[in-house]
Amino acid sequence: MKIDAAELRVARLPLVIPFRTSQASQAERVALLVRVITGQGEGWADCGASPEPWYEPEFLSGARAVIAEHLLPTLMQAPDITAARVQPLLAQVKGNEMAKAALETAVLDAELRAAGMSFAQYLGAVTDRVPAGVSVGIPGSLAELLSQVEGYLAEGYQRIKLKIEPGWDTEPVRAVRERFGPDLALQVDANQAYSRHDARRLRALDEFGLLLVEQPLAAGDLPGHAELARALATPVCLDESVTSLRLAAVALELGACSVLNIKAARVGGYLTARAIHDLCVAHGVPVWCGGLLETGVGRAANLALAALPGFTLPGDVSATDRYFAEDITAPFVLEDGHIRVPAGPGTGVEVIMDVLERLTVSCELLC
Ligand code: MG
Repeated sequence: MKIDAAELRVARLPLVIPFRTSQASQAERVALLVRVITGQGEGWADCGASPEPWYEPEFLSGARAVIAEHLLPTLMQAPDITAARVQPLLAQVKGNEMAKAALETAVLDAELRAAGMSFAQYLGAVTDRVPAGVSVGIPGSLAELLSQVEGYLAEGYQRIKLKIEPGWDTEPVRAVRERFGPDLALQVDANQAYSRHDARRLRALDEFGLLLVEQPLAAGDLPGHAELARALATPVCLDESVTSLRLAAVALELGACSVLNIKAARVGGYLTARAIHDLCVAHGVPVWCGGLLETGVGRAANLALAALPGFTLPGDVSATDRYFAEDITAPFVLEDGHIRVPAGPGTGVEVIMDVLERLTVSCELLC
């Protein structure tokens, strides 16, 4: 197929509760949505980039610029484009994986819709529903945290992830363990907030039987994570460190993690995400699917990825109402602690255009 035009749209979706991590706090999701228009139909993607480069080096205005000025013109020149050809065609542009992922995903969506095949089928999903976990931001108080966790468990979430930072780690974990018991599937995410000098502080988490501690150290410090993995009983999981298949392989080789959180947006798209999944399966390393507060467009694709056989831990793919009162697709709902994997062609979801128009703050058509 050939890309005739593309639309880059920025939309603002208010969050139902503000989300705070060790790096940043946000009260809304500002989403860059990419729509590619081809002779055989359209495809959509939700670019993972945030307005500020606080979590990832890539950020929304930069992603929009690199798509408009470099990536899209290259793809539009190609007489016959498929998702598998997107990364090779864009190889001259260094980095910018989130921008590349958005284009690859939109092309894949268009391609699969034209072929009548779902993301799940294309990627190799082995289940039609996945267990839902929830990521709990750093709240104002312990009481607020316990109340939020209680609410999520009542809704049926299968796993709780607490965001931690120095000064907000053992105390909240202990409080959640004491209130909800040893059987609760519990893990923590530091978003790079600790240093190699904090090994003792992190070792204090070992007594709580956590599933894992996610990204304790700086993204670039793979040797530090390997050292920490040897010092902790709690499994170390990487997230921000893994920006490519090559880095995933290096991390496994160094013993820098025993679990991986795969985010398709960060690694350049679902094809690379699947390759990382396959690598981890070959190494016996369990993986799970992280989230970037995606709209329904991104959530749908993540659900297909999370249905692959190596995704043996519940991910951060939560129901829509955990994030948004109103989304740009029909909401995903919890069914007995699980979320159904879309089975329709492409991502299997339709954008509700009148809602999207109302939430849109800018839109540019490139042709
Ligand atoms: Mg994380």
